[in-house]
Amino acid sequence: MHPDLVLTNARLLDPGSGAFLPHDTLTLSGGRIAGFGPDGGRGSGAEVVDLDGAVVVPGLVDGHLHPVSGAERTAGADLSGCTDLAAVRSELAAARRELKDGQWLRGWGLDPNAFGGLPVSADSVGPVLDGIPAAIDLFDAHSMLVSRRALELAGIDGPRRFDQGSAEVVCDDSGRPTGLLLEDAACELVEAIAPRPSFEELCRATADVLRRMAAAGLTGGHAMDANGDSLAVYAALEERGQLPLRLRIAPWVQPGAGPAELAELVRRQGEGGRRWQVAGAKLFMDGTIDNGTAWLELPDCHGESTGAFWPDPAAYTRVIGELHRAGVATATHAIGDAAVRHVLDAVELALAEHGPGARHRVEHVETVPDDTVARFAALGVTASMQPTHCTDYTRADHTDNWSRRLGEERANRAFRCRDLAEAGARVVLGSDWPIAPFEPLGVMAGARHRRPSRDLQQPPHLPGQALSPLRALAGYTLAPAWAAGEETRAGRLAPGFRADLTVLARDPLTVPDTELARVPVLMTVLGGEVTHRAV
Ligand SMILES: [Zn+2]
Repeated sequence: MHPDLVLTNARLLDPGSGAFLPHDTLTLSGGRIAGFGPDGGRGSGAEVVDLDGAVVVPGLVDGHLHPVSGAERTAGADLSGCTDLAAVRSELAAARRELKDGQWLRGWGLDPNAFGGLPVSADSVGPVLDGIPAAIDLFDAHSMLVSRRALELAGIDGPRRFDQGSAEVVCDDSGRPTGLLLEDAACELVEAIAPRPSFEELCRATADVLRRMAAAGLTGGHAMDANGDSLAVYAALEERGQLPLRLRIAPWVQPGAGPAELAELVRRQGEGGRRWQVAGAKLFMDGTIDNGTAWLELPDCHGESTGAFWPDPAAYTRVIGELHRAGVATATHAIGDAAVRHVLDAVELALAEHGPGARHRVEHVETVPDDTVARFAALGVTASMQPTHCTDYTRADHTDNWSRRLGEERANRAFRCRDLAEAGARVVLGSDWPIAPFEPLGVMAGARHRRPSRDLQQPPHLPGQALSPLRALAGYTLAPAWAAGEETRAGRLAPGFRADLTVLARDPLTVPDTELARVPVLMTVLGGEVTHRAV
């Protein structure tokens, strides 16, 4: 056995017990953890790195992200820092000044809270978008605000009907489109005619994002779409040695999917390269609370969020049964209480009919009652949570759009990370980048302090739902490994496990919650290969 890399003077943190292992050396060989030294690699030609007491944790894995579509979306004007319409207008005006004749204005990260009480519409934004084609993603990536010129170019002049139950061309009382498009099918009307980046541009942008992710300490991610060219992008980047994350990619299954589409999805499982693999399927049970497209047991205070994304929810149940029988793990976006309940019902039925097998998960779980919380552990369903969606897009005093729409009772059941963990559910953490920043320490910090990252002086939102430091770390290590069925080879520091590591300057379990996001990431190692190094 020839060690490839030996890390000495390391503090090796076990995400299960929270204790340091009784060793200070880690020897990596053939992409795996070979052992704990001592002197494992000296004289063998292996590179030896003295970590000087830095803390090694298993490589951090983001349980929910969108690398390629995110790289494409974040190419335009960044509106994610705009908290009012004046700021939005001035960012858009700056972006408009840069445009060449006929060029589209693209933007992303628009928060509906920036509109105050005004409707999210092209008119509310004002003349800055007049006469130019513009398409701006709202922060949830489930909706888009487009200019009048873009509507005209796409031939949208009134309401439309879609297969996706909650998709909508929002129109005013006179039936005229306001510029707000809800859900993928409606956004696609404009996406289809807007200019796209070239394959090369997309590869470059994705490579840049992945490099930054590795530098932030990520060694892997569960990518929740295989849209457009994304699989070809991953393949090209791997070929070029520019894939510093291990990615599991779940293609979408849309309402209306027939036997041929499901068979194709089953056939593609495992397709991929050394570091990327098609694994599982992504489905949607609803949209978002902010857009009024979630599926709630009772309507929100605008009378919205009453319907499922699948116009026939029973068809969704049948698809889950089919995929479970074929051994395909599913991840379903379910935000409202009715949506989450329906997914759990579907998994329960699949288990009853076909026995245990594929591991299923629910993405987001934004508001659920107690009895639903308890069902996750019983059914072995993973709760995939994005705590920074709560901390950065809602407010502790419930004056934000999300909380107002839900009302007090349901807003008080927001993002119940701790309740789910205490009820025995496996809680995977993630960013949903580009919806929220991908830095894993920032997401773990949000899970712990529940405060908005832009101002840590603000009060925490439901501090009772804060995760302990150990549970937050498990959410980026043990839990994603289990959700992927890889708990015997990933997520811990043990001989034979993957040599995927993140090296931190401080102990993430004892550093104060409000300082965690600023802890330097000294090194990231993927399969024994250094993908980021700052020591
Ligand atoms: Zn997502």
